[in-house]
Amino acid sequence: MNKINQINFRFFKKNMQSIAVLMPLVPGSYAAERPCDGIMIYSFTTQQAPTIFREVSQATKKSLFVAGGPHPSSRPEETLRFFDYVVIGEGEETLPELIDVIQNKGDISSVKGISYKNEAEDIVFTEKRSQVDLDKFPPFDPGIMLNTIEITRGCPFNCAYCQTPQLFGHNMRHRSIDVISKYSKFLKDIRFTSPNAFAYGSDGIHPRIEKIESLLRALQPGRIFFGTFPSEVRPEFINDSILELVSKYCRNSTISMGGQSGSQGILESIKRKHTVEDIIIGAEKCLEHGFNPIVDFIFGLPGETEADQLETIKVIKWLTGKGGNVHSHYFMPLPGTEFENSTPAPLSKEVEKVMGDLALNRKTTGVWS
Ligand code: SF4
Repeated sequence: MNKINQINFRFFKKNMQSIAVLMPLVPGSYAAERPCDGIMIYSFTTQQAPTIFREVSQATKKSLFVAGGPHPSSRPEETLRFFDYVVIGEGEETLPELIDVIQNKGDISSVKGISYKNEAEDIVFTEKRSQVDLDKFPPFDPGIMLNTIEITRGCPFNCAYCQTPQLFGHNMRHRSIDVISKYSKFLKDIRFTSPNAFAYGSDGIHPRIEKIESLLRALQPGRIFFGTFPSEVRPEFINDSILELVSKYCRNSTISMGGQSGSQGILESIKRKHTVEDIIIGAEKCLEHGFNPIVDFIFGLPGETEADQLETIKVIKWLTGKGGNVHSHYFMPLPGTEFENSTPAPLSKEVEKVMGDLALNRKTTGVWS
């Protein structure tokens, strides 16, 4: 096999979603569990980067290595120490074009949205590529694997720890109801990815409930799970009308909400643009409508004091006492974000104990230290 004729996507559990999006755009490509001869394409996050860099640096195959995804897009210079090309940001248009130019020995500098090293070993960034129209690309390849449908990309908020707006922009783009409906037929359980599912059809600030109702109605009689795993919703988007719609059209008994902190001071410092009260009202609304609220909290945010953590614990105790659940995280500085060079705050002993007890009682999942 010629070095550049075989195209392989390095596939592992945690990058299934991006590979399912990209593989149908490169017909005749393969899923690979290790480096193979040909063009090897990787998509990965910061958590996966050390393992991937080790794998690529130890590869003995004659491959050309192409990287994309959150970490390479934010750290192209670092990634180019191991890879030949980096696709920056969205790959739907850039990746097929890059492969075509490599295979036909064209002019690499003409491919927008990439970086690479030239003959002098200088790092070159080509012209930025504009955002893709989601409707022009399938949300997944039904022949490869069944998956969730990405309904929205981009976010108008700018939470200091989050890579989403840096990667996908501040304007929300939505897949059309027709395209979502077409691909929903391949799914037994219809689940979605979105930075805020209750913002579907809107600018991300002002909810468009009529758009959500049109979407949910168009997907009948499917088994719809909306506002729950793997997407989440912002607390201030939770209200009676939206929960009535979810009750009417969907099968989920839980709503996944991003709360992040029970300290108003921390919510302000991380630029969440909602209040602690919004979290409490959102959770109460969910409970009133018979949904179990599962709320995300992050511990160790930069500048967080023990007093801030205890305020979060107070909200968590209230929530779990009412029957809700918690999904917790420990802060990790991500490249490309405002907090990329920040140090995580240490976890208080009291918080560790309370969270440990809650985990034993199955009231919290995730990692908090
Ligand atoms: S955390 Fe959510 S609301 Fe905040 S910027 Fe990221 S996607 Fe947007």
